[in-house]
Amino acid sequence: MTDAAAIQARLQALCESYAAQLPATIREIRRQCEKLRDTPTTDDLKILYRLVHGLTGSGATFGYADLSAAARAMEHCLKDLQDRGSVPDAPYCDRIETYLQIIESASIKAHDSSRPNLSAEQRIQQSTDMENRLIYLVEDDPHQAQDLSLQIQHFGYEVRIFDVPEAMETAFQQQQPAAIVMDIMFPDGELAGARAVRELKSNCHEPPPVIFISSRDDLAARLAAVRACSDGYFTKPVDVTAMIDILDHLTAHRVAEAYRILIVDDDKVLADHYALTLSQAGMEVVTVNKPLEVMTHLQEFNPDLMLVDVYMPECDGLELAGVLRQQPDNDSLPIVFLSTEDDDALRMQAMRLGADDFLFKPILPDQLVASVRSRAQRARVLRAYMIHDSLTGLVNHSTTKDYLQREFVRACRQGTQMAYGMIDLDYFKTINDTFGHAAGDRVLKSLARMLQQRLRKSDVIGRIGGEEFAVVLTDTSAATALSVLDGICSSFSRIRHYYDGREFTVTFSCGIATRENGDNTAALYQAADQALYQAKHAGRNRVLLAAGAA
Ligand code: GH3
Ligand code: MG
Ligand code: MG
Repeated sequence: MTDAAAIQARLQALCESYAAQLPATIREIRRQCEKLRDTPTTDDLKILYRLVHGLTGSGATFGYADLSAAARAMEHCLKDLQDRGSVPDAPYCDRIETYLQIIESASIKAHDSSRPNLSAEQRIQQSTDMENRLIYLVEDDPHQAQDLSLQIQHFGYEVRIFDVPEAMETAFQQQQPAAIVMDIMFPDGELAGARAVRELKSNCHEPPPVIFISSRDDLAARLAAVRACSDGYFTKPVDVTAMIDILDHLTAHRVAEAYRILIVDDDKVLADHYALTLSQAGMEVVTVNKPLEVMTHLQEFNPDLMLVDVYMPECDGLELAGVLRQQPDNDSLPIVFLSTEDDDALRMQAMRLGADDFLFKPILPDQLVASVRSRAQRARVLRAYMIHDSLTGLVNHSTTKDYLQREFVRACRQGTQMAYGMIDLDYFKTINDTFGHAAGDRVLKSLARMLQQRLRKSDVIGRIGGEEFAVVLTDTSAATALSVLDGICSSFSRIRHYYDGREFTVTFSCGIATRENGDNTAALYQAADQALYQAKHAGRNRVLLAAGAA
């Protein structure tokens, strides 16, 4: 069975198990109603409220829209009572009874219509996400178009050139690119490019990112780009490497890493349902049913976004958000609340506590996927700016340290191997002095690219100083790390760099430490640094293991 089919089967099973428990839940609600009619107490009212509240959120999710609507009406009625601190009198009980009857009859109706299922469009999106490196370049000047296209292709993208937006739109109907690079001015109008993108974005369910290029640097042009929801703006001549950085962030991440979503909901069935819906859309999901356990998942899972239920027994969603926001590390983590409430005061309170958005239960699977994906994508772009080094696109020093810490803790807990390598370019000052700083920058980028190409996706590659890099290799022994980095060292030394018509080569030295070198990351860092120092002294252009690495 394919993964998608397996997930579909599990979704189906969840729907069936929901349907199976539904009669018992409704019987429970009826019992509670009768109890309340006989001897009304605020405690029993509270219990009834919770039961009905659960039904509102879950019903429509599993295909019982009518049931959900009736439950919502009943919930409002109960909340009203609760807020007034009173218990239901006979007429109120009759109203509740009416809702209950609607709920009972809605629960036995067929419910195929809104059963969770991904649209065909989403499936296509999902499969193209896996390998799409296609860029549509819309530029009416043929020379500029050719030149830019060639440069973009050097970085592993495939480029199709269009001279007018209309031609691109036609192609777009056939095949969606990973991103669009769009000129702003065309013979058709000063802002024709921006206008075309605006139309395209409004007609498309999940439009690809768009980067504008223009010779205009005025506010009107930039504003038009903003209004077209652009993901970047470059004035001509285009700084291609800067643009590639953005393209990589916008597209390669979609290819390389699934969005990680942490779901916190005390309702296990509902949480599982959201999880399956999101995983079917290609996201990686962890669910937590006890809010107090969130902390243990945060560091290791490193979610892009947290989806949090508002009502939970131990600690409600708002309190949880408050606690998270107290810690600087979690400050930028987007928190999206899921709630059945349409209470403005609550919403405001949530926003004050740093909620990024509010979604209302019941939410249809397609809506959930679209909302979560767009917010996670945005969070990734913002975070990419914060944690990446702007020259090479690698993670910066502090982020590398965070990763090292995280992987070290994980390796210790799981008893797996890991290696930490520190790389320093040889005689780099001389390269700068001889060929200029710009030539040096190119060398730094070429090493970054080579490390990215030769190491695995799961490895972490950081730029930790001017001409110093670090790599965290997970599940890797000292011997393997040595052979991999040695291979890179020798390939790199053979690259011929060109600058201003002059040719030169550059080498690096590297020191490797493993978990055996100490019981904390500071010890690892020191051991790798020491090995690097020895590599320099032994003549450079080599990779050495720290003493004791295994
Ligand atoms: P060694 O083999 O001992 O490492 O010699 P080295 O010249 O590489 O070492 P040193 O630490 O003396 O010089 C590092 C040089 O790296 C100095 C600095 O100009 C250069 N550098 C640091 N950051 C950058 C950068 O971002 N771009 C460029 N082009 N050069 C940089
Ligand atoms: Mg140095
Ligand atoms: Mg150096």
